[in-house]
Amino acid sequence: MAWQTIAKSIRDWALPPNLADYGRARVAFAWEGARKELDGLPGGQGLNIAHEAVDRHANGPLRDHLAIRWLGKNGEVEDYSYGRLQTLSNQFANALQQLGVNKGDRVYILAGRIPELYVAALGTWKHGGVFCPLFSAFGPEPIRARLTIGHAKVLITTEVLYDRKVKALLPSLPFLDHVVLIGSNHQATNVPNTKDYLRLTENAGDSYTIPPTAPEDAALLHFTSGTTGTPKGAIHVHGAVIAHHITGKLALDFHQQDVFWCTADPGWVTGTSYGIIAPLTNGITSVVDEADFDPERWYGILQSQKVSVWYSAPTAIRMLMKAGSEIVRKYNLDSLRFLSSVGEPLNPEAVVWSKEVFGLPFHDNWWQTETGGIMIANFASMDIRPGSMGRPLPGIEAAIVQKTEDGSIQEISDPDIQGELALRPGWPSMFRAYWGEPERYKKCFAGGYYLTGDLAKRDRDGYFWFVGRKDDVIKTSGHLIGPFEVESALMEHKAVAEAGVIGKPDPMALEIVKAFVVLRKGYEASENLRRELLGFARTRLGAVVAPKEIEFVKSLPRTRSGKIMRRLLKARELGLPEGDTSTLESE
Ligand code: ATP
Ligand code: MG
Repeated sequence: MAWQTIAKSIRDWALPPNLADYGRARVAFAWEGARKELDGLPGGQGLNIAHEAVDRHANGPLRDHLAIRWLGKNGEVEDYSYGRLQTLSNQFANALQQLGVNKGDRVYILAGRIPELYVAALGTWKHGGVFCPLFSAFGPEPIRARLTIGHAKVLITTEVLYDRKVKALLPSLPFLDHVVLIGSNHQATNVPNTKDYLRLTENAGDSYTIPPTAPEDAALLHFTSGTTGTPKGAIHVHGAVIAHHITGKLALDFHQQDVFWCTADPGWVTGTSYGIIAPLTNGITSVVDEADFDPERWYGILQSQKVSVWYSAPTAIRMLMKAGSEIVRKYNLDSLRFLSSVGEPLNPEAVVWSKEVFGLPFHDNWWQTETGGIMIANFASMDIRPGSMGRPLPGIEAAIVQKTEDGSIQEISDPDIQGELALRPGWPSMFRAYWGEPERYKKCFAGGYYLTGDLAKRDRDGYFWFVGRKDDVIKTSGHLIGPFEVESALMEHKAVAEAGVIGKPDPMALEIVKAFVVLRKGYEASENLRRELLGFARTRLGAVVAPKEIEFVKSLPRTRSGKIMRRLLKARELGLPEGDTSTLESE
């Protein structure tokens, strides 16, 4: 089905969009110019994420402005102004100093979305440490593996997580100098071989002068989602803050009065780049919710907190769709003005649904742990072609490339040709290494490009369309098929909540297209429905692309950041080993 463009008119935005004239902005844009929107450390001592995120606001008119409103899972509400964040992060930086942490040392945190996580991130950057957040739901082995890869010097965690997951690992972590524990309800604890977060920070001074940090100094170690294999540890530098700041402004359309909610956990790069850094550098208010996904809770937060800009992920949007449109009507969501999504392809159905239900379409954008910030986006002023990731932001050169027979890289300038999505290096939040894996890093570059590992097409108007990850693409009877196209077509059927599509080896066709389908509430799996869906997909996609097999399942395996793990569907289908499942959400 051809989806109609969602055309924007002046009535579509409450505030003038930051990126109003795309063509002009692309020509005029320079990263040095974007850098000038930030302060730099006093006295020309370099660039530091925490200074840009907190101190420059705390030292100015935004001192008492609400930076973070924290909503605890048991109904607690805590407010953190820019001034308060400054004091708390100063204390944390002083605590690191006392612990003997040096510039470049890795400071890990394993915790849910609690205020200490946000303070620890900022304090670590102030002190020149490398911040590494881990999903709190990781089991002991993924935790051990990641602490070992980055040689953690300090681990901040909660008393509960320490007992359950960390304590038994200590003998295998000789490099770990300190474990700092956060007690329940921020209360102090007394556990042998650990330090207490509250005592440590309360006794530390509340003023701190950030030592010089250069834009190229390491600031973040972020593990990828592990969707296609073993997670990689991407290193980002302080200079990345330039990209976080400007992409927040251009792609998420941050305005001074916004209340922003990024639903991602900081264990995933989105939850750090846009859950911590970008809203703070832009001086706006963020909502942080400690609790897990729940449709009623989410709509309640949007209403009660008067959220204006909402950044979420396709998996959550699909779950909201599954919960039904009726619930939405119980809430007043008039404050919302801009909706955005990242992490997986956003099915056209979801864009159209959100336009119907919220009166606002979700704006898809594309990026990776490696790119550190948004690269391609549907920005506020832009007409949306549902199913497209949008256009490259100012400062970002994206291309479709193919490998030629002699192994060199060739840019495809014709429209609508499928190839690998590639980016010209040079933006500030570009990763600088995969920790400890120089060969893997080197392999990402060829012909002057960073190769993303994703396949895409560009249409004649410069919109990019995601086809699939290189590893997920299905080869059938001489055709290359992206699972996304098939999944999106199935989702157009009223019975389908979501679908995961793989290539299943076949002696004749090389692979056949197989779909795993989760049904919406009120629909039962049956042979009739299976046949109906096969026919429905064939009408929409044609016989070559449509699935030959459909299997009904209760749920799809996904990563903790919410991505469908097609490699697992495939391994299970073929009875093969499941490979690295450290990021698999419990099913
Ligand atoms: P790994 O690299 O360990 O397999 P991952 O690639 O899922 O995991 P992330 O860096 O979290 O780790 O995710 C980036 C990837 O997510 C992109 O390369 C792309 O495949 C997918 N992605 C992100 N945003 C979009 C989008 N808007 N449309 C389509 N795909 C997207
Ligand atoms: Mg990846």
